[in-house]
Amino acid sequence: MKKLIVILVVLALLAAVIAAVVLKKPAEPPARAGTVVTSFYPVWLIALNLTDGIENLTVRNLAAPSVGCLHDYQLQPADMKLLTGADALLVNGAGMEAFLPEITRAFPDLPVIAASEGIDLLAEGDAVQIGEAEGEEVNSHIWLDPARAIRMAENLANGLMKLLPGSRSTIAENLEKYSMRLAALDAKIREGLRDLPSRDIVTFHEAFPYFAASYGLHVVAVVNKEPGEVLTPTQMGTLAAEISRLGNPPLFIEPQYTDLSARTLAQETGASVFMLDPVVTGPEENVPLDYYETAMLKNMDTLIEALSGPGRPQ
Ligand SMILES: [Zn+2]
Repeated sequence: MKKLIVILVVLALLAAVIAAVVLKKPAEPPARAGTVVTSFYPVWLIALNLTDGIENLTVRNLAAPSVGCLHDYQLQPADMKLLTGADALLVNGAGMEAFLPEITRAFPDLPVIAASEGIDLLAEGDAVQIGEAEGEEVNSHIWLDPARAIRMAENLANGLMKLLPGSRSTIAENLEKYSMRLAALDAKIREGLRDLPSRDIVTFHEAFPYFAASYGLHVVAVVNKEPGEVLTPTQMGTLAAEISRLGNPPLFIEPQYTDLSARTLAQETGASVFMLDPVVTGPEENVPLDYYETAMLKNMDTLIEALSGPGRPQ
C-alpha cells in the first residue's frame, strides 16, 4: 500500500513537472514581430517612448506625420492598408479622431487604446472666436499640458502591457522614466512662466487652452482657420478691433497653419507675432525621444519673450 502511495506521489509530481513545462509557454508568450499603429504625431511620440527597447515591434503613424492636427482628416487607402496588419490602434480620443467609427466598422476586432481615457476635458473656451470653430464639444488638444501627457502615457502603457504581456516590465520601466521626464518638464515650464507681467495671448487654432489653464495664461481670442485659409476682410476688421480692445496682446501662429492673416493683422494693429508649436508635426525618421520636451521648452522661451518683452504696449 505504501509503495502504491509512493508511486502515485511520484506520478503526480511528474505530471506537475510536465504540466509546468507545457504551460510555461502560454504564460510568457514569446516575442513576435508586431505592429502598433498610432493616429497622429503626439500619440506616436508617446508610443515610441513607451516601446523603446522592445524588439520585433514596429510603431507606425497612421496619418503622415506632416498632416498635423486631425480635424477634418480623411482616411487614405494607405491608412487602411497599414491597419490591415496592425495589432492595435493607439489614439488621442476626446473627439480628435472623427474617423474612428469608420475604422471600427472596417476592423471590428482591432483593439483601440485611447490616451484620453479618464482625463479631465475642457469645453470649447470662452475666448473671442473669429471664424468657424471646429464644432467639437470638448477641446481635444490634451497633450499640450504635460501633466495630462503623463496621464496619456499611463493609459497607453496600460493598453500596451495587456497587448504585449511579454514586454510588461520594459513598458513599465519606460513609463516610469517618461513620466519623470514629463513631470520635470511641467515643473520647469511652471517656474519659467510664473512671473510674467502679462498673460493674454491670441492664437490661430484652439490648441493651447490646456496649456494656458495649466500655467495661468489667458487665451483671449482664437482665430479658427484651416491650414492655408486666410481671413476675409470682414473677419480681419472684427479681429483687428478685438485685438485693439484687448490691448494688443501678442499673436501666436503655428508652423502648420498659415501666418498670412497674422502678419496682416500685426501690421494693422501693431501687435507682435510669435510662433508656438502644438507638436503635431516633427521629424519622421530618427525621432529624438525627447522631441516633445524640446518643442515645449522652446514654446516656453517664446512665451517668455513675447509676454515680458519691453516693446509690448501695456
Ligand atoms: Zn488642433
